[in-house]
Amino acid sequence: MSGVLILVATPIGNLGDLSPRATEALASADLVCCEDTRRTGVLLKHAGVRAAELKRVDDHTEFETIPAVLDRLAAGERVVLVSDAGTPGISDPGERLVAAAIAADHEVTTVPGPVAAISALVASGLPTGRFVFEGFLARKGRLRDDQIDAIASERRTVVLYESPKRVAATLDALAERCGADRRAVVARELTKLHEELRRGTLAELAQWAREGVKGEVVVVIEGASGPGELDDAEITARLAVALSHGASRREAVDAVVAETGARKRRVYDLALGL
Ligand code: SAM
Repeated sequence: MSGVLILVATPIGNLGDLSPRATEALASADLVCCEDTRRTGVLLKHAGVRAAELKRVDDHTEFETIPAVLDRLAAGERVVLVSDAGTPGISDPGERLVAAAIAADHEVTTVPGPVAAISALVASGLPTGRFVFEGFLARKGRLRDDQIDAIASERRTVVLYESPKRVAATLDALAERCGADRRAVVARELTKLHEELRRGTLAELAQWAREGVKGEVVVVIEGASGPGELDDAEITARLAVALSHGASRREAVDAVVAETGARKRRVYDLALGL
């Protein structure tokens, strides 16, 4: 007898987005794993569901709770995993539990629903055909620099999560590395009373964000249109122009990287050849 692990998406702000299948899954679960029993309690109350049992599984406890959840699955039980909001496993606990359940040969399925990243992407007006999801950027250090460099040269639309406190600094850093004129969208408080989709260039959005941003935000950034098409000759020509205006080699490299979103290493190597 094998149980089933069901990943159930829940609303990202508007309780009306809880689907009938999500309600049914919560009502029929033997165990509901959730990040915060109080928050999930509010959702269950809204849905009129009395859950059989709630178990806390957050970022810190996910790993240590795996054996207990596997035991329940081995006993043939239906285990639901929800997060505080949206889809479990998307910048939320779930990935490790799912991997463990699959490794132990248990069935894993989903009740799909809201994901802030996808809602922001589709409403952004930016290309949706190909995109990458970055989750939350590292807060500081080399990893963050590398992530922003990668975004600068990424041709696909980029979606990332950010806290309202850090969004201004992140937009500033993105404007500097991707170019001030790169189009972007800040999707704020999706599905809630103060929902806002603010569209503009990275520089405009950074300036707006410096005034203070409230609520939850997703940042959607247009893919780099130039770098894939820019050949070495074009990058070299841009470097030559910057140098002819009196920039040092390093300043010229930085300027061309910011203009084009091309990789710094590539631009630097071309500058060495001048
Ligand atoms: N699992 C969730 C999902 O499926 O979207 C994401 C959880 S992650 C911990 C929380 C982040 O998602 C927030 O910091 C914000 O970037 C984004 N987010 C969640 N709800 C949102 C909303 N209603 N409007 C805008 N962004 C939201």
